[in-house]
Amino acid sequence: MPALAALLALAGACAPAAAQERPDGRGPRPTTAAAFDRAFERIAADAAWEFDEKRARADLATLHELLPPGDARRELGYRALACAWHPDEPASGRAFAERGIADARRARAPQLQVHFHYCRASHAEVALDTRAAITDYGTGIMLARSLGEARLHGDGLALRGGVRSRLGEQALALIDTLDAGAVYRRAGLRARAEANLQRVAIVYRRMGEHRQALRYLERSRVVSLRERNWISLISDELQTAYAFEDLGQAAQALAAYERALQVARDHGFDNHFGFIHLGMAYAQTQLGAPARALQLLDQAQAEFAAAGDHTNAGMLELRRGEANAALGRHARALRHFDRAAPLLQREDNERYLAMFHLARAATLEALGRPQPALADFRRYLQLHDALQRRLGDERTRLLQHRFDAKQREHENRRLVAETRLRDARLEALLRARRWQWSALGLGAVLILLMVALVLRQVRGARRLRDLAHTDALTGVANRRRIEQFGEDAIAHARDDRRPLTTLVIDIDHFKRINDTHGHDVGDAVLTRVAQTCSGALRQGDLLGRSGGEEFLVVLPDADQAGGLRIAERLRASVERLALDDLAPGLRVSVSVGVARLRREDRGLVELTRRADSALYRAKHDGRNRIEDEALAASA
Ligand code: GH3
Ligand code: MG
Ligand code: MG
Repeated sequence: MPALAALLALAGACAPAAAQERPDGRGPRPTTAAAFDRAFERIAADAAWEFDEKRARADLATLHELLPPGDARRELGYRALACAWHPDEPASGRAFAERGIADARRARAPQLQVHFHYCRASHAEVALDTRAAITDYGTGIMLARSLGEARLHGDGLALRGGVRSRLGEQALALIDTLDAGAVYRRAGLRARAEANLQRVAIVYRRMGEHRQALRYLERSRVVSLRERNWISLISDELQTAYAFEDLGQAAQALAAYERALQVARDHGFDNHFGFIHLGMAYAQTQLGAPARALQLLDQAQAEFAAAGDHTNAGMLELRRGEANAALGRHARALRHFDRAAPLLQREDNERYLAMFHLARAATLEALGRPQPALADFRRYLQLHDALQRRLGDERTRLLQHRFDAKQREHENRRLVAETRLRDARLEALLRARRWQWSALGLGAVLILLMVALVLRQVRGARRLRDLAHTDALTGVANRRRIEQFGEDAIAHARDDRRPLTTLVIDIDHFKRINDTHGHDVGDAVLTRVAQTCSGALRQGDLLGRSGGEEFLVVLPDADQAGGLRIAERLRASVERLALDDLAPGLRVSVSVGVARLRREDRGLVELTRRADSALYRAKHDGRNRIEDEALAASA
């Protein structure tokens, strides 16, 4: 059961996840758990395990002893290893694996699940259900790859490669085994990568790529020798011999067989003698020593019989037939060939069958029986063509795969380049956008600055305008401003047919204040009076200094009563002004002349003249009083 043996080694390829866990308090003794995990790891690390069934069984027994009681996780791990050696019959092995898959899935132990998939695949292989095996390996491979479990991943590829190769799908087998090697190498699993060399060689040989096969075998032989792995070394030599045989180089084939025989003898692998002698016999016949070949075949037959192996009976008969034919004993040769025929047909090995039909055709011809000879030869040609076609197909498939892989690689590189380019463009765009933002920010700052400048300009202009309209001493409107305001107000009043009143105000005996308290006090008094009067006005009225200690007030919308009321308010507020801070006991008063807009007035001048006349009368009548034009007229 070599597939199972191989799997057993592979099943140990990975310790269960539980190996790292600390057992819980009520669980198994820690020492046992640790010992179990160590044993598990040791088996996993041993790439040569698959070659030694006895050791594998002993290891399994040890593992079972170390199994901590009640440790479900480790028990599942043990089952994952033991699964491959569930030997009774394939059906029960598959059922065992089936349960393992379900339990591992339930226990969320995906690594163990992979083990069980591989195990079920190996049992399917034994049952010759190769398609099911390939499917299960595929499931395990994908799971292992997704877990990042290189060892399990590579093992699955190697195992599937083996199935495919036996199925004749050499191209896919080669891809699998080469991939397995790459996975192992990438993960630094050197021993496994080296053990894989022989597998690759075998697939190459089956593909008819003998030179490639020999190159791999050469490397594998170096490893086997270094590792003192004699079984592997015997296999390397046998495979080398087969490759030379296929190349028609019988002498080299014989040399390889002899080296294999030497190793088997030196290290006690007697069970390999049969194969080696069988191979040597063919080489001897090819080399023109058929008598020696017959001796070797006798030896091989005895060795197979001693080992209880009857699977090579067909080959023994074929080789005997060939040797006898080479000796010119055609009748005897034919007897051997006829015996070989049903045995080889049962094996369904087209290569050997083709060989057989060619050999028998020659013998039949030699016996003077051209009809059956021709039939055999035709059969040979059919088989040969089919084989060649199949090999051709496999090579095409491989080339196609390599071409696809190259295409994919090319496509990937293109994608990577495109992605880089896109990233670079994006980066440039972002940089540009950053610049744009900076520029925008700068622009915004500039705009703000300009707005500020404009505002300052506007404010400056307004200040200048205000200055042009303001009396420097008192801060109220100057003459120009009040006259302009008055003209505008008159225009509006005319448009709206609304009344308008003007007041002319003159400070009483101001000369005296100047004279008594000085010009500065005079200035201060002038200012206080201006501010006080201005502050006593309504919204929309305006007071301006018309000259010296005289003011003009324009009261839009004020009729006689309104005008007099305001005039009185101004007079009274000036009279109440406390000026003791300027000079103790200082008092000031104003006289006010009032006049209203008349329809015949051409402008402010006439209106003010009438107010002036009223003011004159106020002065004349004793000051600190209000005179109205109408009252004057009526007086
Ligand atoms: P009345 O009651 O008749 O108006 O007597 P008055 O002294 O106020 O009138 P008058 O016209 O005789 O004198 C006005 C004085 O106002 C003359 C001038 O020196 C003074 N004056 C004019 N402008 C200013 C000024 O800007 N500051 C100061 N301190 N005095 C001024
Ligand atoms: Mg005056
Ligand atoms: Mg005066």
